[in-house]
Amino acid sequence: MTDEPPIRIAVVGSGPAGFYAAGHLLKDSAGRFEVDMLERLPTPWGLVRSGVAPDHPKIKSVTRVYEKTAAHPRFRYFGNVTFGVHVSREDLLAHYHAIVYATGSPSDRPLGIPGEELSGSHAATEFVGWYNGHPDHTDLEFDLLSAERAVVIGNGNVALDVARMLVLAPEELAPTDTADHALDVLARSSVSEVVILGRRGPAQAAFTNPELLELGELADADVIVDEAELERALAVADPAAEEDITCRRNVEILRSYASRPPKGHDKRIVLRFLLSPVAFLPDEHGRLGAIELVRNELVPASGGGLRAAATDERETIQAGLAFRAIGYRGIPLPGVPFDERSAVIPNDGGRVLDPDSGAPLAGEYVVGWIKRGPSGVIGTNKKDAQETVDAMLADLAPPNGATAPPERGAAHGPDKPDAATVEALLRSRQPELVTYSGWEAIDRHERALGEPSGRPRVKLTRIDELLRVAAAEQP
Ligand code: NAP
Repeated sequence: MTDEPPIRIAVVGSGPAGFYAAGHLLKDSAGRFEVDMLERLPTPWGLVRSGVAPDHPKIKSVTRVYEKTAAHPRFRYFGNVTFGVHVSREDLLAHYHAIVYATGSPSDRPLGIPGEELSGSHAATEFVGWYNGHPDHTDLEFDLLSAERAVVIGNGNVALDVARMLVLAPEELAPTDTADHALDVLARSSVSEVVILGRRGPAQAAFTNPELLELGELADADVIVDEAELERALAVADPAAEEDITCRRNVEILRSYASRPPKGHDKRIVLRFLLSPVAFLPDEHGRLGAIELVRNELVPASGGGLRAAATDERETIQAGLAFRAIGYRGIPLPGVPFDERSAVIPNDGGRVLDPDSGAPLAGEYVVGWIKRGPSGVIGTNKKDAQETVDAMLADLAPPNGATAPPERGAAHGPDKPDAATVEALLRSRQPELVTYSGWEAIDRHERALGEPSGRPRVKLTRIDELLRVAAAEQP
């Protein structure tokens, strides 16, 4: 502890990156930093709550680390507060010595092909939010009751999550915290085949090994890989992939799938390669009925590696549902610099940069996907947040009273750096503020709802329900 006045930090966003940043700040600052975390939803944990697949409870248990940070006496949580609506960048700069933007990449990327807007064509981000009970996606409808084949576009872990969720057996889904509205529809689903399309080959896929292996262990679904297509896609040497142990292992796993006979399950996941959708075609009711694909070949890319180049070969595949899982995208925050091309906040090692001068902006920092783009697993954010926090410590609390070098983000002096003043401001702007004890009330409530059926929780999926439960117990 120290007698010096606290250095007050606002972290915007309560996902893994925001929590790792808060944890590092509280641990590394010798008692000088106080952290307020602002979150748009009443509930914390970002993609750990609303992105990680419900059948991956171990991955979700990382929240225990974040709970320890939240219990720190110099940490406060303010949920149901939207940056740009209830509080502006200027408000935060007036009350805090620094802001850390940790808002992730909540949007999706379009394919930009004809028919993408047809009913039955969806962004994976929406489906993921829907089955995870994200309040923004609760009322979406996915017609799993008419389609027999779904196509998932992309060769990353989100594509695998979506494919798996579409074919999990009811007994695999039953013990999870899948949102009740989704459990009901998934249990009655008529989807029996999910085709995962890679525009490049198996060696270039972005899957991680455990997630790819898991596909081969499903209770109700075979995994099918055509050997000839697989080997054709491996015919062009890719030295970078050959050096990468994850890529090599992915290829081995896929070869093992190609060589094993199907077990005769009712459902199947088919992995196909070197194919890109070029048009979504309507059926007689104007819904998605088929997808026109082009066969690709691998050619050297200008920046190194291999890229997919379309050939003249085409095929059409019948499908009533399509999910594009081709990556997330960051969205701009009001008043905060944003690089449209890479969809991140421009930064140097976590210091937000002025887009005009290229110099660091005093008192503004960034962590996680909105800093580096939507890549890596949850743990990647720990190291990422440490880099930003190290920069903050050098700028805001240099050792032995040294001043930060001027080329770094100079310290920023807020007008009203007082914890009570900013809380009063937030409460005046958002009377239905959710504190951490409000979240704990929601957490207890959801867990209690899940207990009778042996589920980790039954999620509340509407903002008004969440606020009602939080308000009943918070001061
Ligand atoms: P990702 O790993 O970046 O994969 C995106 C995939 O989409 C790539 O295969 C990419 O192919 C493909 N793609 C991009 N543009 C395309 C286009 N126009 N047409 C066809 N394919 C296209 O993204 P993600 O799956 O959204 O995952 C995001 C991050 O979250 C990743 O780091 C992932 O590992 C992580 N995650 C982890 C887990 C887990 O650990 N269980 C679960 C979910 C997500 P190219 O390579 O050819 O560009």
